Amino acid sequence: MKSSINNKMFLLQCPGCKNRMKYQNRGSIIIKKSKKCVYCGRSFKVRDSIIKKLEK
Ligand SMILES: [Zn+2]
Repeated sequence: MKSSINNKMFLLQCPGCKNRMKYQNRGSIIIKKSKKCVYCGRSFKVRDSIIKKLEK
């Protein structure tokens, strides 16, 4: 039985305002996705913005 990658937390940094935010992966490949910054509203690629993976 493979270990699940569901619900992994990543730490992202917005390229616009440099604020950091947590992002929760709900089972799909997040590196192809975009996320909208909750601080400044700018959209950016998740893959380019991962600065840390938070292992639980
Ligand atoms: Zn931002």
